[in-house]
Amino acid sequence: MDILSHGLWGGIIFGRKNKKSFWASFVFGIGPDFLSFGILFLERLIRSAFTGTWHIRSGKPDLAEIPQYVSGLYDITHSFVIFILVFCIVWALFKRPIWEMLAWPFHIFLDLFTHSTEFFPTPYLWPFAFTPINGIPWSTPIIFFTNVGFLILIYAVYWYRKKRYASDKV
Ligand SMILES: [Zn+2]
Repeated sequence: MDILSHGLWGGIIFGRKNKKSFWASFVFGIGPDFLSFGILFLERLIRSAFTGTWHIRSGKPDLAEIPQYVSGLYDITHSFVIFILVFCIVWALFKRPIWEMLAWPFHIFLDLFTHSTEFFPTPYLWPFAFTPINGIPWSTPIIFFTNVGFLILIYAVYWYRKKRYASDKV
């Protein structure tokens, strides 16, 4: 799924309590992609600024052009095993579970079915062996627009109910 959708799904599912909770869930929702492809994007942006030539191209990146460190980070951030580990460490540190963090495994879950084995299949059990799942790429129009449609619907319902609840209280 695209990075913005990940953030929006994370926020609406796990961050409905208040604004802080929403943005925390949003950040955990985009985290796995931000800490892999996001770094590559920033690196290219900085390189473009220094060299004066534009290094960012739109569309699907060529697999051969993606540096090794990006796939390394992608493995780490898209693994349920790593998530469970980090979730438990954070739980121990804060002495309570941080539920907003669940936007992270939800990101992995969405990616499982929206990435084909040809382009970054989700390494959901990394560092252990896993059977890659051949999902339908999220850039396929039917998946892309269905996702956007559901997001609009769910946010509209949420805002409508919130407004109604606020006016009921007056
Ligand atoms: Zn992802």
